[in-house]
Amino acid sequence: MIKCSTCDDVAVFFQRYSGKKLCGQCFVKSTEERVQKAVSKYNMFTPSDTIAVALSGGKDSVSLLHILHKIEARFPKSKLLAITVDEGIAGYRDEAVDIASDTCKILNLRHMITSFKEFYGYGMDEIVEVAEKKHGLTACTYCGVLRRKILNVTARNAGVDKLVTAHTLDDEIQTIFLNVLRGDVARIFRTESTFLCKKFVKRVKPFCGVPEKEVAFYAFLKNIRFQVAACPYARSSSRNEVRTFINRLEIMHSGTKFTVYKSFQRIQSSIEKFTEKVDFQECDICSEPTARETCKACQILMELNLLNNN
Ligand code: SF4
Ligand SMILES: [Zn+2]
Ligand SMILES: [Zn+2]
Repeated sequence: MIKCSTCDDVAVFFQRYSGKKLCGQCFVKSTEERVQKAVSKYNMFTPSDTIAVALSGGKDSVSLLHILHKIEARFPKSKLLAITVDEGIAGYRDEAVDIASDTCKILNLRHMITSFKEFYGYGMDEIVEVAEKKHGLTACTYCGVLRRKILNVTARNAGVDKLVTAHTLDDEIQTIFLNVLRGDVARIFRTESTFLCKKFVKRVKPFCGVPEKEVAFYAFLKNIRFQVAACPYARSSSRNEVRTFINRLEIMHSGTKFTVYKSFQRIQSSIEKFTEKVDFQECDICSEPTARETCKACQILMELNLLNNN
């Protein structure tokens, strides 16, 4: 029997990068504490914030909602709610929306559901059909842009102060690598503090210090229901290639993900002082904030001849 490094119970998880062996209870506690630590370290919330979690129904967002619900109970002046965007992906999103709704019922939280169809007039399946014929763009590229816009508008209209996304440490590292590979230097060093626009609801990522694998194990230990099926369009994502590459590095050099993240944060905070503030203007089509004349969402839909006035 292998003992937990923190108590006398049987260890069920070996955290290679820290050398710790943890029992179920200590593992759950340490995951929740890491979320709390990130919330405090980055001053993510104030005690009276209205907080919305972008709830997809996947393991990350459902687990995070459970943890934040627990933390938020200590702050009676704050409000917690969830926003789910139904992208309109047949055979995939229905189950996720169902799980998201059930989670909010269990936690007694307000749940706002919005959709691509409602907002843009087209669901992802229709958009992909057109995009595949016209463009070499991968589905995730435009899906992400379109979802971000809906989330921002929905949260802002609901008076939300902080919009929470369940990006894990893995997501953060993948994004860093993807931006480097694409040569998108501006995005690498652009942070929330470089945005000069009240129309953007501030985004926070309390899972930024928790590896994806540990979120999955947390959900398993807590018996949390989440959607297991993968999105049918995810296969075409270059993020998957980066994920495989980083996971290989992590196996060979344990702790790589944390090292990369910390290095990046250090570089980012030094560069931030010299980074020019981005002055956002209103999109000439939808009036949402953009650094260019037309926002990226309108641009994508316009190129696909799918632009409705939304
Ligand atoms: S995997 Fe890609 S296409 Fe599927 S929901 Fe996520 S971002 Fe959209
Ligand atoms: Zn223990
Ligand atoms: Zn626009």
